[in-house]
Amino acid sequence: MSDLEQFRKETRAWLEANCPPDMRLPLEDDDDRYWGGRNAKFKSEGQRLWFERMVGRGWTVPEWPKEYGGAGLSREEGKVVRGEMRRLGCRSPLDSFGIWMLGPALLRYGTPEQKREYLPPIARGEIRWCQGYSEPNAGSDLASLATRAEDKGDHFVINGQKIWTSYADKADWIFCLVRTDPAAPKHLGISFILFDMKSPGVSTKPILLISGKSPFCETFFDDVRVPKGRIVGEINKGWEVAKYLLTHEREMISAIGLPGGRPLGQIAADSLGTEAGILADTCLRADIARFDIDAYAFQLALERTGDQLKAKQANPAISSMLKYYGAELNKRRHELLMSAGGSQALEWESERSRHGEAARSWLRTKANSIEGGTSEVQLNVIAKRILELAGA
Ligand SMILES: Cc1cc2nc3c(=O)[nH]c(=O)nc-3n(C[C@H](O)[C@H](O)[C@H](O)COP(=O)(O)OP(=O)(O)OC[C@H]3O[C@@H](n4cnc5c(N)ncnc54)[C@H](O)[C@@H]3O)c2cc1C
Repeated sequence: MSDLEQFRKETRAWLEANCPPDMRLPLEDDDDRYWGGRNAKFKSEGQRLWFERMVGRGWTVPEWPKEYGGAGLSREEGKVVRGEMRRLGCRSPLDSFGIWMLGPALLRYGTPEQKREYLPPIARGEIRWCQGYSEPNAGSDLASLATRAEDKGDHFVINGQKIWTSYADKADWIFCLVRTDPAAPKHLGISFILFDMKSPGVSTKPILLISGKSPFCETFFDDVRVPKGRIVGEINKGWEVAKYLLTHEREMISAIGLPGGRPLGQIAADSLGTEAGILADTCLRADIARFDIDAYAFQLALERTGDQLKAKQANPAISSMLKYYGAELNKRRHELLMSAGGSQALEWESERSRHGEAARSWLRTKANSIEGGTSEVQLNVIAKRILELAGA
């Protein structure tokens, strides 16, 4: 047996022994996720046990170095852990912008002190981060951002406003883009900075979504003092860090296109019924089959691209392609869920459909082609940087 097969066998046995049964059930709604942070509360004993066991093994971030709270696994071993978790249906023990976005940027651009200070609390779920990029006049054209950080010697004073800051009202710290040189060309006067959301002068105001939920905020900075040591990368060169982080954000979002949850065919069979063991609605049957094939093909594409990225053989813009396609797949999946769920899927408030979860989740997917950069912008990037189309 190869070393990797041995590792797979041990991983499978460990997960089977340590992942509590309720942590192997599909998520029923967003509240089933554990985000960590100073004010975090576990929803169940199973969730607490699962989180603590995974932290203890370094498997909230399996491929990060051990000194930063990871398990120091190779990419191949990391894939085995993820694959075995998927096979057993294990939930993520910790959802975290620190893991998905800031961590990779710190590993590449952070000083040794910054890595020691910020990475272990991310791996242990102690600090919850939010992302301060977008502003009222800087979304797709992010480099137009106007939040100003004035140099006051040993610290900056930050003034301005961010918008669409996901979970800003629940986050402990923010990674934020600020303008440190207003006279420089727009991409060259930006810095990437970290600060505590409890700093005097930081305030948030939740924004209500079409789904009835409020996962993001307007975020305001009024004379917020931040020590200079909190800049990641070089001053005025934050755009480089910002772009690198965005590739990780887009890869993270693309995972919403992966197959998972209860099979669509099963849901449709349960609510619409079958004839001779197959769905009577031939159009829906064909749409579900087409979707399943596309989702499995996408899973393989994601794995192959992950290997190429690790080996530095992939076009860095590939994350735009994955984000675009993953978002479209997830939107398709939820359209099909609405068709497959029959009239029950239309319910908004009822005991049967857990407070209209199907309809709310379907509405939430409308944002997939906006968050992390819109689909139009991803298509522009693909045309220019991957297809190298003239005039793009
Ligand atoms: C659910 C959700 C969560 C988010 N979370 C965060 C967060 O945590 N932190 C954060 O900083 N931001 C966050 N965002 C903001 C997100 O990054 C922006 O909404 C996104 O980048 C688009 O910017 P905008 O909304 O200003 O739209 P705009 O840039 O104003 O775009 C409006 C329309 O014009 C189109 N458009 C713009 N430029 C071009 C172009 N060059 N070519 C073709 N079409 C174009 C766009 O595709 C879009 O359809 C979140 C957004 C959503 C929906």
